[in-house]
Amino acid sequence: MKDNTKDLMIIAGPCTVESYDRLYATAYKLKEMGIKYLRSGAYKMRSRHNSFQGLKDEGVEILSRVGKELGLRTVSEITRLDKIEYMAKRVDILVVGTRSMNNYPLLEALGIIHNPVILKRGFAASYTEWHASSEYITKSGKTNVILCERGIRTFEPQTRYTLDMSAIPVMQQNYNMPIIIDPSHASGKRELVAPLSKAAIACGANGLMIECDLDPDSCVCDAKQTIAPEVLQDILSFIKRVKEAENGK
Ligand code: PEP
Ligand code: MN
Repeated sequence: MKDNTKDLMIIAGPCTVESYDRLYATAYKLKEMGIKYLRSGAYKMRSRHNSFQGLKDEGVEILSRVGKELGLRTVSEITRLDKIEYMAKRVDILVVGTRSMNNYPLLEALGIIHNPVILKRGFAASYTEWHASSEYITKSGKTNVILCERGIRTFEPQTRYTLDMSAIPVMQQNYNMPIIIDPSHASGKRELVAPLSKAAIACGANGLMIECDLDPDSCVCDAKQTIAPEVLQDILSFIKRVKEAENGK
């Protein structure tokens, strides 16, 4: 069957790298499902200092090895200026997390690497502020920068954050930048990930970044918002149907 999702950037994988065996098992399944981009965190920016902070360099090495072995492009968060060179050599796409959107020295330094950079929206940042941050990366002439809406802080406590769907057309139309959606961190709830993903695709998002693991309940980090591969398969089938309808098939 023709893969109609191929022009969308669909990134999936566990919140954080826990071990080689575990990441490999999930990544193998994702590859079988046609996923091309594997996400996982090695340097975690946790709100609490005593939460698991990631495997750091060891996590990067594991992600890089699994990506190479399975032919998947790797995606991981960069949190520190002094790790840019190291990570850029081992990870295909670097992510600036929500808490680093205003780390201007980090953004400036990312402007001079070749890897694509995903810039997540600060959870309390306006569109203008978000775009201004992106300009710290692009002022060097860099063009491969992708925005990621991951939910903003509102008065609503039932979801972890509030997914701002308007960001999709606004950032595309006003700034001509591609934007992907992270429904996992936005909602904090795995039962909301499929509906929000489908809405984002219908709204014209350029891709999705989703936390997915073979055994979501046992994830050390963000278990409640992590979906099983079957749920991801449902999202991929929806995308395929939308793309076929758009192409008049
Ligand atoms: C993540 O994607 O692993 C992450 C921590 O996301 P955010 O920076 O949006 O909280
Ligand atoms: Mn996470």
